[in-house]
Amino acid sequence: MSGVVGFVGLGHMGGPMAASLVKAGYRVIGYDLVPGLLASAVDAGVEAAASAAEAASGADVVITMLPAGRHVLALYREEGLLASAAPGTLFVDCSTIDVADARAAHEAALAAGHRALDAPVSGGVVGAEAGTLTFMAGGEATDFARAEPLLSAMGRKAVHCGAAGSGQAAKICNNMILGISMIAVSEAFVLGESLGLSHQALFDVASTASGQCWALTVNCPVPGPVPGSPAGRGYAPGFAAPLMAKDLGLAANAARAGGVDAELGLRAARMYTEFADAEGADRDFSGIVRAIRERSGS
Ligand code: NAD
Repeated sequence: MSGVVGFVGLGHMGGPMAASLVKAGYRVIGYDLVPGLLASAVDAGVEAAASAAEAASGADVVITMLPAGRHVLALYREEGLLASAAPGTLFVDCSTIDVADARAAHEAALAAGHRALDAPVSGGVVGAEAGTLTFMAGGEATDFARAEPLLSAMGRKAVHCGAAGSGQAAKICNNMILGISMIAVSEAFVLGESLGLSHQALFDVASTASGQCWALTVNCPVPGPVPGSPAGRGYAPGFAAPLMAKDLGLAANAARAGGVDAELGLRAARMYTEFADAEGADRDFSGIVRAIRERSGS
């Protein structure tokens, strides 16, 4: 292990990810617009930079963990992140962003004489804190190999998915499956309720039959069958509904752009946007079962 890591975006995910790198022995120079988050990162052993550009200068690898594509592109193109880095620096964007934005970020990094990977994550804040994230990466194999020790320090698994943008593509396809399957499981529980079927009976059957899926067996949307699922703690996240709405929105954009007839994906995106805007802002995405129950008048 060697090298200096610049880390920009020290929020819910970036904070614990930067801390994992420090624990693994890396020197991490960090920056966030929010002074309190930067201070917490410093408590975890990160060295504070005065700006994002300063975090990138002198780094071998620069990791970004930002809200959306516009933040990544603004930092890359206008806020000096690429310009201040030494030639050949590897830029690893772990944010979840549009596939087209990820490809544009790659192009900007390469045009500035650097290397780039998109490497979004699955596993949430719990995975970031425990260092058990899954990374899905897009870019050249040699750049993936260069990033792998860092990804291993922050996560449990890293998959090279293909060329630039492939990591984001894998992420939104996976989360489209997840969003649709959570709605399917929730509708089945509400239908079961209307038919007088207990939650436990439906769970016992479906979890060992062909209805089996992560949304049922790990993140079960009704309290009881899976101790520890968000339903058992008032739907405290977990994976917050607005993040699911965001990821499904990215999937819907990509489906429209590619002319893909992803009817359930588009419907799931609308349902999660409505849920997040109504009562779901601070709720786990499995809380959508309550919206379905309400709309069913039960
Ligand atoms: P967050 O809002 O907590 O963190 C983002 C941080 O970026 C903020 O602290 C913000 O101040 C900082 N930031 C924004 N612009 C900046 C700039 N120009 N310079 C420096 N800092 C800047 O978000 P999060 O929950 O950590 O999520 C980050 C990314 O990870 C998102 O793309 C999200 O979709 C993705 N993600 C989140 C989760 C999750 O469970 N939270 C799970 C998987 C993926």
